[in-house]
Amino acid sequence: MEKRGKKVRVIAIDGPSGAGKSSVAMRVARALDLPYLDTGAMYRAVGLMALRKGYAVPLPPAFDGADLARSTIEILRMELGESAMRVWLGEDEVSGEIRSAEVSEMASAISALPQLRRILVEEQRRMGEVSGGVMEGRDIGTVVFPDALLKIYLTASAEERALRRLKQRKAEMSPELLKRILDEQETRDFRDSNREDSPLRRAEDAVFLESSGMTLDEVVKLIVDLFRELENGNSALPS
Ligand code: C5P
Repeated sequence: MEKRGKKVRVIAIDGPSGAGKSSVAMRVARALDLPYLDTGAMYRAVGLMALRKGYAVPLPPAFDGADLARSTIEILRMELGESAMRVWLGEDEVSGEIRSAEVSEMASAISALPQLRRILVEEQRRMGEVSGGVMEGRDIGTVVFPDALLKIYLTASAEERALRRLKQRKAEMSPELLKRILDEQETRDFRDSNREDSPLRRAEDAVFLESSGMTLDEVVKLIVDLFRELENGNSALPS
């Protein structure tokens, strides 16, 4: 295991879509009274702005997204709501809109742009350095906060993740819809894991947590207990 030097008081939770990162991260943040940041919501907000400006997937080859990222950050506001991060662009609340399938696809496409990522990563570091927190995404433990006190790589089987997405969308269960969600998920996972800049991967020193069959309470308790132990100076992490 990597030697633990000076660590930032951040819990980094990374993993593929539908692994339950948001539900887990929010509960952990509440339990430890730490700020919560859903970095995916930032990519989604920029994705929504891209759609509003008339861009479509595939993006034009010359588009680097840097100006779009900057102008989005200027008007972006996020706040922990009851059950999800609430997001505003200026006065306009877009918490629901950023979760649509169209925005999911655009967020995944724009998140492969290195210049755009650089701007969002800078902002995420700025937010985390002030007061620490629970941060979830794809590259928190590998790129944004490689010195996070605790890193979790949270995953679950493809079927379980797709079923969770189906529930989230409050949709009627049907084999066709499940297949469509599995296909969308596979496309996004492939793109997130195979892009050149900051692909989704487990940091070497991240705790691997396969949550299939575990309850939300069990996952949250495990992370909270690990964090408390680390804060008390016990660095014996399970891998
Ligand atoms: O986590 P969520 O599914 O809301 O993220 C939306 C998209 O943003 C993901 O598909 C991924 O491509 C991108 N993302 C990223 N890096 C992060 C968080 C999200 O590339 N740290």
